[in-house]
Amino acid sequence: MSYMWARKDRPNLDDAAHTVFMHDNPSAIGWTKTNASCRVCGAKLRAFYHEARLYSVRCDKCRIVSLVEARNPYDAAEKVGKVELPFP
Ligand SMILES: [Zn+2]
Repeated sequence: MSYMWARKDRPNLDDAAHTVFMHDNPSAIGWTKTNASCRVCGAKLRAFYHEARLYSVRCDKCRIVSLVEARNPYDAAEKVGKVELPFP
């Protein structure tokens, strides 16, 4: 896969990034609540599936959105945030 983007592709990439970032309605269909917490503020993260194992993971408080390849929304959120393990 080439990471060099043709200049004609830039507007599509920019539009896609802004669309994902601004899709911040917490009650929107498709956002899954997870048990993973933001590494910056500790708020719970939410994940959104984009097909082909690609997820957006977001912290609403920090306004951070990450793109992650994962098996499911919980795995995606754990790659970005942190999960407290239960005390044995
Ligand atoms: Zn945060």
